[in-house]
Amino acid sequence: MTDLEPTFLAVFRELKPRTPLPAIEIGFYPFAHINSTIRLREGRVLVRLSDLLQTAPEMVLDALAHILLRKLYRQPIPEVYNARYRRFIGQKDIVAKAHLIRQIRGRKRLSSPQGLHHDLEALFDGLNQRFFQGWMARPNLSWAPTASRRNLGHYDPAHNAIIISRIFDAATPPPFVLEYVLYHEMLHLRFPVRMKGSRRCIHSAEFRREERRFEAWAEAEAWLKRL
Ligand SMILES: [Zn+2]
Repeated sequence: MTDLEPTFLAVFRELKPRTPLPAIEIGFYPFAHINSTIRLREGRVLVRLSDLLQTAPEMVLDALAHILLRKLYRQPIPEVYNARYRRFIGQKDIVAKAHLIRQIRGRKRLSSPQGLHHDLEALFDGLNQRFFQGWMARPNLSWAPTASRRNLGHYDPAHNAIIISRIFDAATPPPFVLEYVLYHEMLHLRFPVRMKGSRRCIHSAEFRREERRFEAWAEAEAWLKRL
């Protein structure tokens, strides 16, 4: 039971005095924006709040409980609650924090598959034909913001995106090394990691076997070791 449960239940009691109190689940989530959602599922009220609200004063959370529950039950929201909530998220430090998390968490969706030297979509399509008979649905493809040597590529299931280090968007290393890294990430789509939201790299024996179908496998591996 979170501290917020009594707050939400009190508001619920106020709005629907004759209805039995529902089960309610409230959690804080690392959203890219200060957003909050509420929905009903199988008689339970599910509330997801931005983790930026974790430090909000009681008065603000009470206002938010009014806003969300009234939205859920289609009741008009008194201006006093909207104003109180807006005043809180309009505070300088909250605006600054929100801006920062948007940059950090929202970044992935911003960059394009077209780099200076290589187009990830064209490369994906080629590999798809070569190794998957063209059946693989194209995920979001994106160059990472930096030329990281540690994180050369990863598949992010949350965004259904393959992100490739900018280190490969250059004249060297040769294009087949980039293709090999992209092919590796495509195999993560082919053999999904079961843990949800995880970025861990899990490579089964089958995965490793498929990886070796890449013609220049040994040369590409050698290049990656040098990086
Ligand atoms: Zn991997």
